[in-house]
Amino acid sequence: MSKPILLLNCGSSSIKYQVIDAETEEVAATGLIQRIGEEVGTIDHTHGEKHSAEREFPDHRVALQVLVRTFDEYGPSLSDVVAVGHRCVHGGERFRETTVIDDEVIAALRELIPLAPLHNPPGIAGIEAARAALPDVPHVAVFDTAFFSTLPPAAYTYAIDAAVAKQYGIRKYGFHGTSHAYVSAKVAEIVGKPASELNIIVAHLGNGASISAIKGGVAVDTSMGLTPLAGLVMGTRSGDVDPGLHAYLAKQSGMSLDEVDSFLNKKSGLIGLCGVNDFRDLLPQVDAGEPAAVLTLDVYVHRLVSYIGSYLAILGRVDVLAFTAGVGENSDPVRARTLKALEPLGFILDEQANLVRSREPRAISTPDSPVTVLVVPTNEELAMARETAAAIGA
Ligand code: AMP
Repeated sequence: MSKPILLLNCGSSSIKYQVIDAETEEVAATGLIQRIGEEVGTIDHTHGEKHSAEREFPDHRVALQVLVRTFDEYGPSLSDVVAVGHRCVHGGERFRETTVIDDEVIAALRELIPLAPLHNPPGIAGIEAARAALPDVPHVAVFDTAFFSTLPPAAYTYAIDAAVAKQYGIRKYGFHGTSHAYVSAKVAEIVGKPASELNIIVAHLGNGASISAIKGGVAVDTSMGLTPLAGLVMGTRSGDVDPGLHAYLAKQSGMSLDEVDSFLNKKSGLIGLCGVNDFRDLLPQVDAGEPAAVLTLDVYVHRLVSYIGSYLAILGRVDVLAFTAGVGENSDPVRARTLKALEPLGFILDEQANLVRSREPRAISTPDSPVTVLVVPTNEELAMARETAAAIGA
């Protein structure tokens, strides 16, 4: 029996979607609506063939109506869909697991907006529009933060006034949880051992990047924090900086705190250091010996190595390090430099295996490496489909 699930990932001006059959795990359709709120937007819908059109999408409600009409015209039929799964970036302390959405859940999501002012409002707009467009199926919220609800207090507590932290919900939450959960479960499958017997580090290196320490199947630390700004160096985000930087820069430059926040989120990381945010543009510059590009890669790898070393210390023993997401899956030079630095700690790279390009999971460590190093392509949509199906008992 087929159980198609519509998955929606709503950004402020875009909606990514897929239909995945929870039974067969086949992808029946994929699509992307872009430039919501602008004069001319686009929809690209693939079901067998790709169909593209230009439309005006004044808001998410209209975009979802067009999405439903597009499915009516080009298929597959949405009348078979058993549930809609929504990617929700921030679940705060309230949502520790995937949750079937009702009015009360939406009200609670609204209360969480201050924690994720960029991400949660479009997510809520998408949920409301989708519930209006598809009122007869259950809608389910899948949270980026949920996988990290198991972090121990020592890992999630910031050393600030405890009452202030409690009042404002200030703690480490962690993000990209769907990917970390999917990849760590896949690692267990690949090495043929139960997750409960494995200590795993997952490095999700995409345009956004985060790393997690997973002990016996349970997340015990991660690099993103209260917001997705903390941790590793990212495409446009700084990752960790001295918290005093905000006040210092605001005072010295006259920037407002909002401007400093935007500076650290949008004009920092790779783009801040060398003007490009994509490793495909950066690496040729490194090969050409461009000093800013060389320093950028050095900073990126230094941060990554220091997190892996720290998680090795926290876990005590690491069985598997898994690289995933755009950079982790595709950039062999980043993996090679990282593992070279980690060689004394038991991460031994197989240089030939590292050069293999594939969309399949693969080992890139030598057979006698104390730590197995894998490249595991992530599949957040499939993980969301599984979560959504489980939440509705399908
Ligand atoms: P993601 O956010 O997971 O889609 O990752 C996007 C990032 O992956 C891009 O900004 C690039 O830095 C990186 N990336 C994607 N493809 C490649 C590739 N073939 N080689 C190197 N880096 C890549």
